[in-house]
Amino acid sequence: MRRWSRRQFVGSLSAAAGLGLSGCHTRLLLHPQFVDNPFRLGVASGDPDSEGFVIWTRLAPQPLAGGGMTSMAVPVRWELASDEKMGRVIRSGEALAEPDWGHSVHVELSGLPAGREYFYRFYAGGEVSPVGRSKTLPVDPGQLRIAIASCQHFERGYFSAYRHIIEDQPDLLLFAGDYIYETPDKRKIRQYLAGEPLTLDDYRVRYAEYRLDPDLQEAHRLIPWVMNWDDHEVDNDYAGLHSQDFQPVSEFARRRQAAYQAFYEHLPLRLAARPRGNQMQLYRLLDFGSLGRMLVLDGRQYRHPQACRARSRKEGKLLGPDCIERLEPNRSYLGKEQESWLQSRLAEATSGWTMLAGPQVITPFRQRKDGQPAYWNDNWNGYPAARRRLLNDLQASQASDPIFLSGDIHSFWANQVPSDPDQLDSRPLAAEFVTTSLTAKGPPFDLFTGLLPDNPQVHYFESRKRGYTLCDINRQRFHTEFVGVDEQQPSNTSRESLASFEVLPGQPWPVKI
Ligand code: FE
Ligand code: CA
Repeated sequence: MRRWSRRQFVGSLSAAAGLGLSGCHTRLLLHPQFVDNPFRLGVASGDPDSEGFVIWTRLAPQPLAGGGMTSMAVPVRWELASDEKMGRVIRSGEALAEPDWGHSVHVELSGLPAGREYFYRFYAGGEVSPVGRSKTLPVDPGQLRIAIASCQHFERGYFSAYRHIIEDQPDLLLFAGDYIYETPDKRKIRQYLAGEPLTLDDYRVRYAEYRLDPDLQEAHRLIPWVMNWDDHEVDNDYAGLHSQDFQPVSEFARRRQAAYQAFYEHLPLRLAARPRGNQMQLYRLLDFGSLGRMLVLDGRQYRHPQACRARSRKEGKLLGPDCIERLEPNRSYLGKEQESWLQSRLAEATSGWTMLAGPQVITPFRQRKDGQPAYWNDNWNGYPAARRRLLNDLQASQASDPIFLSGDIHSFWANQVPSDPDQLDSRPLAAEFVTTSLTAKGPPFDLFTGLLPDNPQVHYFESRKRGYTLCDINRQRFHTEFVGVDEQQPSNTSRESLASFEVLPGQPWPVKI
């Protein structure tokens, strides 16, 4: 299948050294020829700050058939310009697409002037990528527009929401988790090529399927993304090194390593996130000057297993008062290190908005089982001691104007987070906005609506709509719009504004406007 030309040339180690290669065993293909365009998965940028961002591509002429690349490293040239036609190139360089990383390329740019728009592209073997667009943030942005998306099941619908997000021209897109779904859906609009991924090759194909979606690819090309993950990037309802199906830990550790690596290979993540074994540093801070900051929280990698789980499957379930394990004080959701990292970051958050971007809803939510109050074991409701520690830290630090931005639950919510999580009507400590899924199925509307009288902390709930969330932030207000989009149509969908809210400094609750 691979028709490598006779003219191909295997580079010497000295040529490799010129690219800053660390290992001396990497074989370098200096003049690759590809069976097809190697940039079929597009380009992307991410994690912008006031002086740079990361740009990404992956060489994969045959993305659905293992990539279609040689087992040698390939040099990739990149260019950064101040105009869309790439006439005014202000930076350029060379990176190495390594076979061990799926021939992905992550280039971190820094030292750029703040608050500007930039354009970039990649070259390899005489082929050129599409032109991507990105932005440096102003040193002290007066305003910021953030789109939030999550839970995109490829089989369940189209990613039409991204067309509207692109039109909204956000400064960045926060992805709140569930970028891929590992399990096929019963109700299909389009179909995965294969079943549940287990190996690195499997996960690479799954990501490639997603990234061949034109709407998703275009959103990556035009908007800098800030990535978070939840469970489905690896396995539904996994917790640390525990799978939902009681896979042996060593076996699941290998699966998690494969899944984390494929996640890194396909997304515009900074080098700090490059996996080490089965670990990956995803929690981090984005600084928005005096406008505030965003703390991206990893809710999966370090958590204790769910409390009182079933013997056969660990997937989420409701826990009544008989589950004592749920209340165990040492149980952690973020893990010890991330908890202390967060505590320090909150103590430094002295002005502006403190956005906490975790994958899951933090506002306590009381459900019912056999007439008794009951709590979901897979989200923060299953980790009440850990939640109390976080909320205590938030109060003690007096972190400035905290707002939680969450996903996971496939429905829109506007909440106030009570200062005492056991007193749902206690003084609000923070506001929380939860975005719905792009395509994945929502929870039963009538059932949840019926629970709202027991949950005065919930201001708004809507699970019948798929879509995204748009936040317009300045120093005077935090404005949030919930946008519904018909995911069943591949094109010409309309954008429906479902509800809008405002949070004011010093008043940590959402006000419907
Ligand atoms: Fe989801
Ligand atoms: Ca999830």
